[in-house]
Amino acid sequence: MDIWTPAYIALGSNLNDPIAQVKQAIRHLVNLSDTRVVLQSSLYQSAPLGPQDQPRFINAVVAMLTQLSAMDLLTALQSVEQGMGKLPPTQRWGARVIDLDILIYGEQRSDAVALQLPHPEMHKRNFVIVPLAEIAPSLVIPSHGLASSISMRLSMDGLIKLPQ
Ligand code: ADP
Ligand code: MG
Repeated sequence: MDIWTPAYIALGSNLNDPIAQVKQAIRHLVNLSDTRVVLQSSLYQSAPLGPQDQPRFINAVVAMLTQLSAMDLLTALQSVEQGMGKLPPTQRWGARVIDLDILIYGEQRSDAVALQLPHPEMHKRNFVIVPLAEIAPSLVIPSHGLASSISMRLSMDGLIKLPQ
């Protein structure tokens, strides 16, 4: 494609030095072909969803412009995950070395299991919405409103912005 689509990617890790993992994943995103990372949020520490007997997560969100289709972008993110040693999930919301999710890809909406857009849970998760609102406060999340408004409504439980 020869057009540039804005996309927002959520990053998360809670294994093997998660701060280093998230920074490494951002470097991989910066190096993706046909893609330009335009902004990255601060790093945040968050309490795990689901099973509590796992380390806390480090999260961030990046904004990019990409010439990749949404499906090709997902494939590129999955190859970054695999290259960083992500293993197939053993339990829902379990520990992982890296997780890269597409939050928003242009105006695209999809209910396909392999690629849900916008990401269906994003508006409920402080560790997604707070970093997203840091870099794109006026972004509208379809059906949920402005990132900044959602961010102000969410509980900040368990979320800590790390000093940069
Ligand atoms: P988890 O749901 O625990 O993050 P994975 O990262 O392994 O587990 O992702 C599971 C599946 O989620 C992937 O196979 C992918 O196809 C699918 N998926 C659906 N929508 C999205 C999206 N918006 N971004 C990333 N993956 C998605
Ligand atoms: Mg994922």
